[in-house]
Amino acid sequence: MNQQKQLIFFILIIFIFQAPVWSQNNPKIKTVVIDPGHGGKDSGTIGKYGYEKDLVLDVSLKVGAYIEKYIPGVKVIYTRSTDVFIELRNRAKIANKHNADLFISIHANGVNNPKPFGTETYVMGLDKESKNFGVVKRENSVILQEDNYQEQYGDFKPNSAESYIALTLFQNAHLKQSLRLAQLVQDQFKNRVGRKSRGVKQAPFWVLWTNKSPSILIELGFVSNPEEGKYLSTDEGRDYMASAIYRAFKQYKIEMDGPIEESTNSTNREEDTHQQKTQNDIHFSIQFLTSPKKISLNSRKMKGLKNVQEYKINNMYKYTYGSEKTLDEIKKVQTKVRKKFPDAFAIAFKNGKKISIPEALKEIKN
Ligand SMILES: [Zn+2]
Repeated sequence: MNQQKQLIFFILIIFIFQAPVWSQNNPKIKTVVIDPGHGGKDSGTIGKYGYEKDLVLDVSLKVGAYIEKYIPGVKVIYTRSTDVFIELRNRAKIANKHNADLFISIHANGVNNPKPFGTETYVMGLDKESKNFGVVKRENSVILQEDNYQEQYGDFKPNSAESYIALTLFQNAHLKQSLRLAQLVQDQFKNRVGRKSRGVKQAPFWVLWTNKSPSILIELGFVSNPEEGKYLSTDEGRDYMASAIYRAFKQYKIEMDGPIEESTNSTNREEDTHQQKTQNDIHFSIQFLTSPKKISLNSRKMKGLKNVQEYKINNMYKYTYGSEKTLDEIKKVQTKVRKKFPDAFAIAFKNGKKISIPEALKEIKN
């Protein structure tokens, strides 16, 4: 080996040993785009408990808030964060404009049959028997509500099966990663939240087609199924679904970028205040309303409840009624509130910070 070759050899060795450190400093997952389906004049599917557009917005904002809180290095971008109409073609454009590393579209299913239920996650592609054509048609048909859609989408007709042939003649550069993320989401729904999984599926969704990053479309469940519709209409149910998606995202990021240093700033501050207080204040209340926007406490939406309290968590405003020291007492209040708000449920606070009911009971015991 001459001197020059030796030098190149050493540089190569240094580079190889530096590589893992180098990749950690340049994470692959920096920007995630969260796409709440529908919005504005497009309500999506309509169930007994409300519109798809509202429930998917709430879950999306919750997912984003979890990511922002616990994985500070990741930028979260929403295609919409309020109840507005966004054209399908512009959703992928937003992702591509921000160089998204992941695209997560969130929807809910609905059919003219109360029986089907369960969650499913889609990646772009074609299943051989076109079994998923119904879902695809429904989710793509929003195009018909857009102005000048013929100009914007050319010959593509969301209701014609032939139109989809063109969509499926493409190379999915991110199929492997999309499938991995989709699987993680379904695993979380099934194993951690106990929802029925209808599996990972492939179908030609327009919103996934033009994306330049790994992309998935989640159907949280069927609003047309009485039980699932009710579950998704509760704040608690939506929170479980959102935390499942968050954990799937976190797992995916760990697989791509290595361990995550979780943010601890907020908890440190909480701990400080706790140390200053010798006695912890534990109380229970009834949460009956959640909104992405602030609601006046005198609003008719309170259905006449007086002395309502508001707290904000994960960018959502939550409204509670009553304050009791024991779970038994608050259960009596819950019975009253449920006459106006059937989905109201008990929550617990420790020094003004929300904690779980089991945690609160443990604290009282101690
Ligand atoms: Zn939808």
